[in-house]
Amino acid sequence: MTIPPQQFASDNYAGICPEAWDAMAAANTASAPAYGDDDWTQRAADAFRTLFGTQCEVFFAFNGTAANSLALAALCQSYHSVICSSSSHVETDECGAPEFFSNGSKLLVARSDDGKLTPEAIRELATSRSDIHFPKPRVVTITQPTETGQVYTAEEIRAISATCRELGLKLHMDGARFAHACATLQCPPAEITWRAGVDVLCFGGTKNGMAAGEAIVFFDTELATDFDYRCKQAGQLASKMRFLAAPWIGLFESGAWLRNAEHANLCAARLAGAIDGLPGVRLAFPVQSNAVFIHARDELLEGLSARGWRFYTFIGGSARFMFAWDARIESIDLLAQHVEELAVTMDEPA
Ligand SMILES: *Cc1c(COP(=O)(O)O)cnc(C)c1O
Repeated sequence: MTIPPQQFASDNYAGICPEAWDAMAAANTASAPAYGDDDWTQRAADAFRTLFGTQCEVFFAFNGTAANSLALAALCQSYHSVICSSSSHVETDECGAPEFFSNGSKLLVARSDDGKLTPEAIRELATSRSDIHFPKPRVVTITQPTETGQVYTAEEIRAISATCRELGLKLHMDGARFAHACATLQCPPAEITWRAGVDVLCFGGTKNGMAAGEAIVFFDTELATDFDYRCKQAGQLASKMRFLAAPWIGLFESGAWLRNAEHANLCAARLAGAIDGLPGVRLAFPVQSNAVFIHARDELLEGLSARGWRFYTFIGGSARFMFAWDARIESIDLLAQHVEELAVTMDEPA
C-alpha cells in the first residue's frame, strides 16, 4: 500500500504557514511586556480594526472552543439560552463548554440539515415559550461557514439579525473558518459582520495557517466589559501574548489570511469537480468553502481507508475532506484518482 502523501481529514492537520511563522520569529527577537501589554498585541488588535473598518474590541484565545464559550458566556446570564443549529460546533463538539462557562445557559437546538439557521427557525424557538419556567432566549449563534461548508450570504445574515433585533436577541458568529467565507463571497469582512448586525465574531486563525489562536471581536464594544477577566479566569490569558498576536499581523499585512482561504476553497472545488457524478458518488452538500462531503457506498469508503486515506464520517455518514493553505494539487488529484478507480471497479458487473 502506498501511503497518501498528505491527508485531508481536517484542515487543522496543516502546519504553520510561512507568514505566521515569520511573524512569530520577528516577535521572538527581543523581550516584551507580558499579558498583552506589548506592541505586537496592540498592533494586532489595530489590524483587526483596520480590516473591519470599525472600533471593535479584540481579544486573543488559544482555541475556538474557548473563544465561542467565553463570548457566549459574556452575552448571557446563567438563566438565559442560546439558539444554535443541530450541527453547530457549540452543540456537538465543545463538550458542554458553552454551558459550563456560562454557568448553565442552555443551548436551544434547531434541527437543520445543512447547518444553517433561518429567521423562521429562530423565531419558532425564541417564541416557543415565554413563561418563567423556560430559560430566556438571549443569543443566536451562527457558524460562517457552517460545519457542512455552507456560506451565509450577507443578505441571509441581515435577515437573521433583523429577526434577532426584533426578538431582543444578540447575534454571535462562530467564524472558525471566517476567512473562507470572505474568500467565497469576495466581500469586505465588514459586510458579513457588523454591517449585517453581528455583535460578536470568533475569528479563527488555527485552521487558516496559524499554530494556535482565535480572536474574539466585539463589534458591540459594551459587551466586552470585563472580558479580559473572563479570559484570565478560564485560563485563556496568554502571558506571552505576543506569540498569539503576532501571527495575525503577519497574515493580515501580507494578505495571506485571504490567500490561504482562497487556496483551500479552490482545492475543495477541484476535488468536488473531479469526483462528483462518478458512479455511486455524490456530494452531500454544495461545495461553498474548503470542505467536501461525499456520499458513497460503504465499500468505496472502506476502499479509501484501505488505501490509507483518513476522513471523518460524523456528519450523516458522509465522508468529509477538508483543505488548508498547504494542500497540494498532486495530493488532491491522487485522492480523486483513487475515488474514481474504486467507483468504476464497483460499478462493473461481477
Ligand atoms: C474547529 C472549529 C472550532 C474550534 O475548535 P477548537 O478545536 O476548539 O479550536 C469552532 N467552530 C467550528 C465550526 C470549528 O470547525
